[in-house]
Amino acid sequence: HFATPTRQIPRFAKVGLPGEKFEVILELKLIADVGLIGYPNVGKSTLLSAISAAKPKIANYHFTTLSPVLGVVRVGPERSFVAADIPGLVEGASQGIGLGHDFLRHIERCRMFVHVVDVSGIEGRDPVEDFEKINLELGEFNQQLTERPQIVAANKSDIATAEAIERLEKHVRAKGFDFVTISAATRKNLDLLVSRVYSALQELPPVLTYERNYVKPAPPVGDNFSIDKEGDDFVIDAPWLERILMQTNVDDYEELQYFQRALLDSGIVDRLREMGAKDNDTVRIGDFSFDYIS
Ligand code: GDP
Repeated sequence: HFATPTRQIPRFAKVGLPGEKFEVILELKLIADVGLIGYPNVGKSTLLSAISAAKPKIANYHFTTLSPVLGVVRVGPERSFVAADIPGLVEGASQGIGLGHDFLRHIERCRMFVHVVDVSGIEGRDPVEDFEKINLELGEFNQQLTERPQIVAANKSDIATAEAIERLEKHVRAKGFDFVTISAATRKNLDLLVSRVYSALQELPPVLTYERNYVKPAPPVGDNFSIDKEGDDFVIDAPWLERILMQTNVDDYEELQYFQRALLDSGIVDRLREMGAKDNDTVRIGDFSFDYIS
C-alpha cells in the first residue's frame, strides 16, 4: 500500500533575484550508431543510400556531401540502427583542413565505424595507405576514437582486382579488424555487412547522448556570518542571508516567516542575544534595517 500523496502548494512566491547572464556555445553533434568513415569518393554516400532510405547526393567529385546525412538501416522487424555518412575525413582534417572539425566532431558520438576503403584504385590511391591515413587522422582528432570498433568495407570490388582486395584484407585482419568485401553500386555483400554491423552493435554500450560537464553550484546556505556592533546597531555580515532577504517581500507575512526561519536556523538570533541585543535595537543586514524583538 502506498499512502495517497498530499501535494503541498507553496503559499507564497518569492520576488526573485536578478537573473544570471551566460554566454553559451552550442555544438551540434549528430547521434548515430554507426559512422561511415573514409576518404572522399570511396562510396560512403552510395553505401548509405543502398542500405537505408536516406538520399544523399552522390557525385563523382570530392566533398559532394556538405552535411552529414543520417539513415535508418532496417535489419528486420523491430531491428534497425542509425548510420551516418561522415564526410570530410581527409589528411589534415584534425588540423582543420578541408571541412575539418565541423564534421569530425559528429563522429564522436558513433558507437562504431564502418571504414569504407576504395579498393579499385580508380582514384589513384593505395587502399592500405588510405586505411592507415584515415585511422591516423581519427587518432589525431581524438585518440579514443581509434579504440572504437571498426568494420572495414572494401568497396568498389566490382571494378577491383582480387590482389588489391586480398592485400587490404591481410593488412586489416592482421590488425584485428573485421573485413567485408562489398560493392555499394552492385549491392554485393551489403546484407552481410549490415548483419555484421547489427551484431557488433548488440555488444556495444548505448550512444552517449549527454555529458554532464557543468555542475550547478549549490544554493547558498550557511552558518557563516559575523556580527559587528556599530554604535548601538548590530550589523550582520552574511551574504547568503542577504540573498534570501533580497528575494523576500518583507510586507508578506508568509515570506517574512520564511526569512525568520532561516535567521533562526542560522544561529544569528542566538548570537545577537549573546551580544546583548535588546528589544527595539536596530539590526542591519545589507541595506535593510530591522527592529530586534526577542
Ligand atoms: P563518398 O564521397 O565517399 O560519399 O562517395 P560517393 O558515394 O559519392 O561515390 C563516389 C563515386 O564512386 C560515385 O561516382 C559512385 O557512383 C562511385 N561508386 C560508389 N560505390 C561504388 C561501387 O561499389 N562500384 C563502383 N564501380 N563505383 C562506385
